[in-house]
Amino acid sequence: MRSLDTSPPEPRLSSLYQEVILDHYRRPRNKGALENATHAVSLNNPLCGDEIDLHLRVEGDVIKDVRFVGRGCSISQASASMMTQLLKNSTVPQALLIAERMSAMMQGDDAAATDKTLGDLRALAGVSKFPVRIKCALLPWNALTDAVKG
Ligand code: ZN
Repeated sequence: MRSLDTSPPEPRLSSLYQEVILDHYRRPRNKGALENATHAVSLNNPLCGDEIDLHLRVEGDVIKDVRFVGRGCSISQASASMMTQLLKNSTVPQALLIAERMSAMMQGDDAAATDKTLGDLRALAGVSKFPVRIKCALLPWNALTDAVKG
């Protein structure tokens, strides 16, 4: 008979967040190329090997559709999946505001970390304590900013 696992339990909050991140990583939303894209940007994060190709279809200043293709760590891919969920049907200025909140959260801003407009992305708040991984979380957002400003 195997001995019981005596390792300490994960804090409840962080394991919940971990589940949200893994769920997006394993079942990414809006993944795949977008037909009729009006904007496309490819970015990578050589520190970690993450790649994101972001495709947007913008009409007027509304993001009608957004999809991504990518590979890399769970943080970068989950961040991209969560981002596409939030951006669909938002305006470009709204999307850029969300990108600013996301960036603030990654700099450790507690107000941003509890802002409901960030949706599932709040699960990534803990990443702010790991400077090397912040680039992973922000990679899709940098692609977004490049796409709509570029
Ligand atoms: Zn990464």
